[in-house]
Amino acid sequence: MGVVDRMRSPRLPTALALHLPDWLVERLDEVGPLPDLDARVGLVLDLARGNIDHSLGGPFAAAVFSIPHGELLAAGVNLVVPTRTPVAHAEIVALAFAGQRLGSHDLGASGPTELVTSCEPCAMCLGALPWSGVTRVVSAARDEDARAVGFDEGDKPGDWATSLRARGIEVVEDVRRAEAAEVLRTYQRLGGLIYNGRTGG
Ligand SMILES: [Zn+2]
Repeated sequence: MGVVDRMRSPRLPTALALHLPDWLVERLDEVGPLPDLDARVGLVLDLARGNIDHSLGGPFAAAVFSIPHGELLAAGVNLVVPTRTPVAHAEIVALAFAGQRLGSHDLGASGPTELVTSCEPCAMCLGALPWSGVTRVVSAARDEDARAVGFDEGDKPGDWATSLRARGIEVVEDVRRAEAAEVLRTYQRLGGLIYNGRTGG
């Protein structure tokens, strides 16, 4: 074997595919336009509950819609554990699929879009939002609701919404928050895996 052959050996992964679970694909086929914000959040909470019911990952879901008509462009659930992908948070998955749906890395290039998330974005997802091009972010549960069941949201600015608004991204918080917090507690009650980055020690 020559040097070139050795370099081509599949020693390291060189491609990555993210697949939405079958139950989610089937669910998305049924979704029509959702011009009502409450209904869009309701869909995302249903998806978070679905991810618990199918025991596939964390109790988080997100979706990207065109606004104002509420056409669903993409959805995501937390796929960290089943795909062995530490960054596959629901928001990241939804943003990635929305880029495929729109044919652009800039999710605002062909009109305003909205990311709806079942829980306020963690430090990583917050960082991704300005790069995504979405024009509005809507969240249901709060950071403290996630922390209350053991999830680490990472180090974020105290007023995360202000940092997005400063970049021209509209932020709407606490839509159906009580219901969203209950989704998180359900996951905890059922003994769902709480995974976090190592914090040392
Ligand atoms: Zn996140």
